[in-house]
Amino acid sequence: MRVLLANPRGFCAGVDRAIDIVERALEVFKEKIYVRHEVVHNRHVVDGLRRRGAVFVRELDEVPDDAVVIFSAHGVASSVREEAQRRRIKVLDATCPLVTKVHVEVMKYSREGREVILVGHAGHPEVIGTMGQYDKACGGGVILVESVADVDALEVKNPRHLAYVTQTTLSVDDTQEITAALKRRFPDIASPRKEDICYATQNRQEAVKQLTKICDLILIVGSPNSSNSNRLCEIAMRNQVATHLIDDDRAIDPSWLRDKKCVGVSAGASAPEALVQQVIAKLRQCGATQVSEQAGVPESVVFSLPVELRSGKAVST
Ligand code: SF4
Repeated sequence: MRVLLANPRGFCAGVDRAIDIVERALEVFKEKIYVRHEVVHNRHVVDGLRRRGAVFVRELDEVPDDAVVIFSAHGVASSVREEAQRRRIKVLDATCPLVTKVHVEVMKYSREGREVILVGHAGHPEVIGTMGQYDKACGGGVILVESVADVDALEVKNPRHLAYVTQTTLSVDDTQEITAALKRRFPDIASPRKEDICYATQNRQEAVKQLTKICDLILIVGSPNSSNSNRLCEIAMRNQVATHLIDDDRAIDPSWLRDKKCVGVSAGASAPEALVQQVIAKLRQCGATQVSEQAGVPESVVFSLPVELRSGKAVST
């Protein structure tokens, strides 16, 4: 049995930055550091930061006024920022800049008076945050669609005054089908010049597609609530390869490996490389004799930290 590692895999620039923000805040500030929602969707990352002192909360009503709060990489609705400002909460914003790009697009379209259609998954924190960017003063609103069937059933105020944006971590292939359906139904619909599915999502999906041509089993390291990890699993399964989403090496059932010749391993954008290395060690224990890595697409994206953290002084937004 051999092991083939996807390249790229694991942490993206937005996750790196978000974790860095929490770690630096824990070093710089004397106050308790609150984090609204899981800063990134990975159990090991969140447990590690919690052990170092970060306090994770679901909503701002769980933190005192004047507290230091970090917003997660998935972004927040405008109403959350307004509440923070009203209560003089000091905010460190770990929203990925590529999610902020989508927020800016929604705001721009809403100010043009367009109804905005968001392609995404209901209930995901990024979707909740993006739906909350609409400028209410401009009327209209944001409508969520999850499928081509949703597009077919869509009722809009003015079919000639629409725009669409997407969640950043969707399946590239599924999203193309949905946006094609939108363009067929609403030929005048506006859309961003550069697509919203981020570079990291696209690169990781393409790498897993390549694995499916060679491997007879694929393991994706990631937590069950990680959107991009789930999309990687779907791509592998759609290509008829047995696939499992695993939080870590302990989740590997040795029976999965029986008669397998090549095991592909990848990791969602929020899964640390240390977990991948533990998975490789477990596979070696189970008989893997060779480990190699795809050539892959080099990634060099780096996002800078918020200014207020660089100076060690958080500001109320
Ligand atoms: Fe940003 Fe993409 Fe990473 Fe999400 S997956 S944090 S959008 S780079």
